[in-house]
Amino acid sequence: MKVAIVGAGIGGLALAQGLLKAGVEVRVFERDPSPVFRRQGYRIHVSPAGEEALAAVLPERVRRRVIETATRPGDLLAGFDTQLNALFEQTFPIGGPDSITSIDRYAFRRAMMTGLDEFIAFGKEFASYGVVGEGVEIRFADGTTEVADVLVGADGAGSRVRAQLLPEFEVHDSGIRCIYGKIPLTDAVRAVVPPSFLRGFCFVQGAAFAPVLFRTPPEEYGDYLMAVLTGTSEQLGRTDDELFAMPAEELWSLVGKQIADWHPVIGSLVSAADASAAFPIALRTCTSVMPWPEGPVVLLGDAVHPMLPSAGAGANTALWDAARLTDALTGGSTLASYQEEMLEHGMAAVTESLENGRRMFDLRTI
Ligand SMILES: Cc1cc2nc3c(=O)[nH]c(=O)nc-3n(C[C@H](O)[C@H](O)[C@H](O)COP(=O)(O)OP(=O)(O)OC[C@H]3O[C@@H](n4cnc5c(N)ncnc54)[C@H](O)[C@@H]3O)c2cc1C
Repeated sequence: MKVAIVGAGIGGLALAQGLLKAGVEVRVFERDPSPVFRRQGYRIHVSPAGEEALAAVLPERVRRRVIETATRPGDLLAGFDTQLNALFEQTFPIGGPDSITSIDRYAFRRAMMTGLDEFIAFGKEFASYGVVGEGVEIRFADGTTEVADVLVGADGAGSRVRAQLLPEFEVHDSGIRCIYGKIPLTDAVRAVVPPSFLRGFCFVQGAAFAPVLFRTPPEEYGDYLMAVLTGTSEQLGRTDDELFAMPAEELWSLVGKQIADWHPVIGSLVSAADASAAFPIALRTCTSVMPWPEGPVVLLGDAVHPMLPSAGAGANTALWDAARLTDALTGGSTLASYQEEMLEHGMAAVTESLENGRRMFDLRTI
């Protein structure tokens, strides 16, 4: 059997590793021109379910690489007001030396690509597919085609595979925009940063800070504090056209203006950021996860259950899907049972993210 995976994101790479480990012929087609393309370094929380899925699909040497490049586990979830008065605090036991509780997306993808060089084609933008006999012909934007027995759409929230397979699927705009940034943990920053910000995820009104303290940093950068500011277009004072056209430095100065009357330590942290690393995101979600027609085209991850990041569940659910789909494609179960389980599990994650989102954000549009 030959499996074609569109998208070398978190779910697509996990599936490729799982299938190759089981001896299945796999090709991954990724739109980005290279693995080091664009701003993708932000922190992702890994849940026990995500960790379990990774253990199931990854060959041991790749799992070791992922553990080495993961962040050192934190033990805190806390909330503060804008003057840094503590509002709540929850602590967790710190996992063992091999536990993976959070990862930097870029370092994680690089580790997950270990051993996949000859199986991933970069600069291959999926355009459409056609079912041919019992297989599928995949057409790319560069005019080339490939044939496979199974096509997996692992191409994220804006999935083109899903757009063709499930044209009626609705993705809702939450109206919430996020500006992400990176504050390198220099000695000067470490001297002022509140200790809680180095222990785990800390909310500060409409913003959040979380540490990325690498076990082994990537070549390109070192430890940093992820910072994110959220708000509606009205709260940010910018339309989408303006926000998404802004150069990174201008975006970051918008964050500086928004927090101008917050505690001076927040101001110092925001000033110490790498402004060129800032990027905006529109938070989108589905409200129900839809089944797809039986056949050689299947979906996983954000392609089939895009969700708000408010439960820290999107990547973990994509990893869970990848482990179950590996089973289904290697004879441990069937594509029909993958779909059935995925619908239930994916819907639970979407619902939890929406419920958390309603508490955290001003969600007037969904
Ligand atoms: C800032 C932020 C913080 C987050 N934090 C968390 C967290 O703490 N925990 C958590 O579980 N989740 C988190 N998430 C969600 C998580 O990142 C996603 O749910 C996860 O990446 C989904 O994985 P995926 O493989 O389905 O899609 P993606 O990782 O988005 O991968 C899709 C891939 O497909 C490629 N692609 C797209 N279109 C095409 C095409 N036409 N042709 C070829 N390739 C294509 C893309 O370039 C990309 O590489 C966060 C998301 C964001 C934005």
